[in-house]
Amino acid sequence: MEIDINKLQELIDGSDNIVFFGGAGVSTESGIKDFRSVDGLYHMKFKYPPETMLSHSFYVTHKEEFFDFYKDKLLECTCGADPAKPNAAHLALAKLEEIGKLKAVITQNIDGLHQAAGSKTVYELHGSVLRNYCESCGKSFEASYLYKADGVPKCDKCGGDIKPDVVLYEEGLDNTTMTNAIMAISQADMLIIGGTSLVVYPAAGLIDYYRGKKLVLINYDATARDSVADYSIHGKIGEIFSQLKIG
Ligand code: NAD
Ligand code: ZN
Repeated sequence: MEIDINKLQELIDGSDNIVFFGGAGVSTESGIKDFRSVDGLYHMKFKYPPETMLSHSFYVTHKEEFFDFYKDKLLECTCGADPAKPNAAHLALAKLEEIGKLKAVITQNIDGLHQAAGSKTVYELHGSVLRNYCESCGKSFEASYLYKADGVPKCDKCGGDIKPDVVLYEEGLDNTTMTNAIMAISQADMLIIGGTSLVVYPAAGLIDYYRGKKLVLINYDATARDSVADYSIHGKIGEIFSQLKIG
């Protein structure tokens, strides 16, 4: 399908209350694997399915195995030898906010790359690998502390277990973050949704709060919600955003 960049450019130029809602596909061009693409985590072979290993009950009952997986698959791209950097999509969204057109980024990602690009209003629906707390005394720790720890990371103050501030399967989303996201979407004149398969609920349900007529969906693969979009684009979001003229 031919991508009409001019059409996207015109929609953005004519909007001043844009909200972006994204997922793992926003960060694949930064080198972070998503879950559901063909080379995503869900297509790799592990002892347990990734949904199981990233669930609250697995965290409680198999903490050592949880952290093996978490450090290798989720922290490596942040704390490893070659940390991921924001790509053209993250940078363009930060620029749109800076010039006053974009009001919020709502993300299902936990990698902190929107903030690294300069975005200020970021609602992280699923938390962040960059925040970690001792389950006993509440002391906070950087991701590198967990990455370097042998086995289950322990608090250096009280010896308690440290838990990443990421929302695991079976855990609820933060109410304030969800409310802020709903408010932003329901007031937006343009909603751009990108890099998400729109299958993880309740996050995927946010699309239904949009009331405007400029719903743009940018995703590499087709999604179940393509038909509700006013303009649906299949392509790489970083490549697409790098062609826009912003500011
Ligand atoms: P998903 O893996 O279910 O879907 C990603 C979608 O992005 C796919 O449909 C794919 O076609 C598309 N995609 C991949 N690369 C793209 C690109 N360059 N441009 C445009 N589209 C692209 O991801 P999801 O919908 O975000 O849900 C998965 C859950 O996993 C989320 O809850 C998220 O918290 C978590 N997750 C986060 C990260 C991260 O922080 N970077 C990475 C993996 C998973
Ligand atoms: Zn502690």
